[in-house]
Amino acid sequence: MSAPFSVLIVDDEKQNRSLLTALLQDDYRLVLAKNGVQALEKARAHEPDLILMDVLMPDMDGYEVLKRLKNDDLTRDIPVIFITAMDAAGDEERGLDLGAVDYITKPFHPSIVRVRIRNHLQSVHQRRLLEELAMLDSLTGIPNRRRFNEVYEREWRRCMRSRLPISLVVLDVDQFKHYNDSFGHAAGDEVLRRVARALQASLRRPADFVARYGGEEFVMLLPEIDQAGAQSLAEAVRLGVEQLHIPHARDAGVPWITISLGGVTVVPTQEGPDPGLFTVADDFLYRAKHLGRNRVEWAPRD
Ligand code: GH3
Ligand code: MG
Ligand code: MG
Repeated sequence: MSAPFSVLIVDDEKQNRSLLTALLQDDYRLVLAKNGVQALEKARAHEPDLILMDVLMPDMDGYEVLKRLKNDDLTRDIPVIFITAMDAAGDEERGLDLGAVDYITKPFHPSIVRVRIRNHLQSVHQRRLLEELAMLDSLTGIPNRRRFNEVYEREWRRCMRSRLPISLVVLDVDQFKHYNDSFGHAAGDEVLRRVARALQASLRRPADFVARYGGEEFVMLLPEIDQAGAQSLAEAVRLGVEQLHIPHARDAGVPWITISLGGVTVVPTQEGPDPGLFTVADDFLYRAKHLGRNRVEWAPRD
């Protein structure tokens, strides 16, 4: 595990906070809160990896804090462990019912607290790894279609709020069948990896995004830039692939591996991404193929 995990400790008694601090400070980055209101503030501000929380506190008890954490998108997934003197089975049940991952009763054995925290943080770590893997295309390592759909929704909404354009670009490797037929599928796979890397390398603005859509087809999002700007970015991407100078199959009749691109630019006005937009970009990709490949074609402004 790389960067240390952060743990938010919530307890109204100073002595308890000190005890837990002494127990955990060597292994984790700690944030302390002495009441429920502070806990909610610090959970939002620091987004800790885990929260260790007392139940009995004046003003707002731990159950109420947990409920509010669960009602907030930003804090909902942070695991909460209750650590409390309330040891009746009913209390424990209530805590777990509200969504706490664990319930430790006081007085506690320091070594057990440490191990339980470590185990929960290991689950957090593994869950994040899985989430990351599920969003990446296994052949090329760049984002996959599922990830694209998520980013597309988010960027669409962002551009709608800022009233700025967003461009969608669909691109496809030219005459790839010939390449596979001549050099084999494994060599073809390697080309897709190299093309994917080149695509990522040509996109420099932080919000620019590229994903493998499937097969030898990729999709790009270029938010917050006008049509002329997006077209020149697409042109740079096209050139980036051509300049890899990957020798193509003889049958392809061209020296290098190239891509064709179709694009469309809109200023979002409706809530969700326009489902027809992908087809528009795809139509212009087809046009690029028809006009001789290794080129960018763009839908005219409407
Ligand atoms: P065009 O220029 O019109 O796009 O011609 P094309 O030959 O690239 O198009 P076509 O759709 O006929 O063939 C696509 C080829 O891409 C066929 C398929 O075997 C290959 N392909 C798709 N996905 C993969 C993959 O993951 N790995 C490899 N090696 N080849 C793939
Ligand atoms: Mg193709
Ligand atoms: Mg294709």
